[in-house]
Amino acid sequence: MDEISLIKNLPAWGIQTKKLLTSLLFKDLKHKNMSSRRTFIKKSGLFVLTSSLPFNYYLPQKKKKLGVALVGLGYYSRDILAPALQLTTQCELRGIVTGSPEKIPVWQKRYDIPDKNVYNYDNMHTISNNPDIDIVYIVLPNAMHKEYSIAGANAGKHVWCEKPMAMTVKECRQMIDACQKNKVQLTIGYRMQHEPVTQTIIGWRKTKPYGNIKSVLAEAGFYNSAGNPSHWKLHKELGGGAMLDMGVYPLNAARYTTGMEPVAVSARTEFTRPDLFKADERTLFQLEFPEGITANCKTSFADSINTLKVNCDKGWYQLKPFQAYGGVTGNTSDKQNLYAFTGNQQARQMDDDALAIINKQPPLVPGEEGMRDIKVVEAIFKSAAEGGKRVLI
Ligand code: NAD
Repeated sequence: MDEISLIKNLPAWGIQTKKLLTSLLFKDLKHKNMSSRRTFIKKSGLFVLTSSLPFNYYLPQKKKKLGVALVGLGYYSRDILAPALQLTTQCELRGIVTGSPEKIPVWQKRYDIPDKNVYNYDNMHTISNNPDIDIVYIVLPNAMHKEYSIAGANAGKHVWCEKPMAMTVKECRQMIDACQKNKVQLTIGYRMQHEPVTQTIIGWRKTKPYGNIKSVLAEAGFYNSAGNPSHWKLHKELGGGAMLDMGVYPLNAARYTTGMEPVAVSARTEFTRPDLFKADERTLFQLEFPEGITANCKTSFADSINTLKVNCDKGWYQLKPFQAYGGVTGNTSDKQNLYAFTGNQQARQMDDDALAIINKQPPLVPGEEGMRDIKVVEAIFKSAAEGGKRVLI
């Protein structure tokens, strides 16, 4: 039987035979150039056969998605990350780690999570035996990031950790060391660095379409009603306060727009409701960068603010809002509009980070990047508490 009649008879054969046969034919054609390959496919009728089957049927099998276990099932996991994991193409939600037994049946039912992929904080280390889980994503109060990131790394799983990375540089270093020792990736959930409009202005620090950067204004905050006064975000010892929650956005933005590390910082903290906030309610900080560049930054649980403006010697550009889930949008001194990316920011972030693992490439936002912010945060807290400027080099 020649190749043509063989193909013509294919529809009558079993699906496995067709699959095998077609892959052999493609293998045989591997060394021919693309035009002879196309001619062969058309002439032989293979085009008709393949077009009647699912689009990717004859493509090499895609590597299976990486499995993610969310650690901590509060607001961000429940309302944002788990839904985003339904949109990702490189990873998917396969497991949960929680200290709240009442949440388990709800999550299992909604996301079809088997019993064997459900953990609590005491048995989380046994996740090491579970091949379904490749990544643990730490979405806990900030003061718990270090302990559970290290537990995940010691279980041999890649670690994604929410911002801010941890409470101190020392903790960040311990997390980095644990991940290096266990040969797993450590990635911080700075979603804005994955966002396309943000990436455009990050690129402008090199191409300088508006000239050299002179100063940056960066502000992020929201009105926190403090409806639950015992919530961890209001308490310093659990990593609460505006600076750690929202302040890392303007700080990170000042660093990613300039591409520089600050050399000095001065800061002050303000309270409008001192009875409710046991951590900073509003923090204002000024960063001094090399080349005389300054960044005036503000974060707050008392004001709704969301602006990043970069002033250059030949114009300016700004994003307003610069860190909203719904999209980043902005404009420039020469009246360009910077349009919003309408995709899901978290899905894009997690797919980027999963691809880094799959391709054995460094992640876009490694632990070292999170640690650089925490070094500045430590100086901000020191300056706010003691007054004066803190030199960072
Ligand atoms: P949350 O309070 O809604 O959830 C925290 C979870 O931790 C809850 O499920 C709670 O039960 C659990 N938990 C376990 N031990 C706890 C303890 N001792 N005290 C309090 N809670 C405990 O908080 P969230 O808003 O989901 O924030 C979680 C993390 O996600 C934080 O690091 C935060 O900065 C980060 N986050 C990031 C973004 C982003 O856009 N990247 C947005 C929101 C939150």
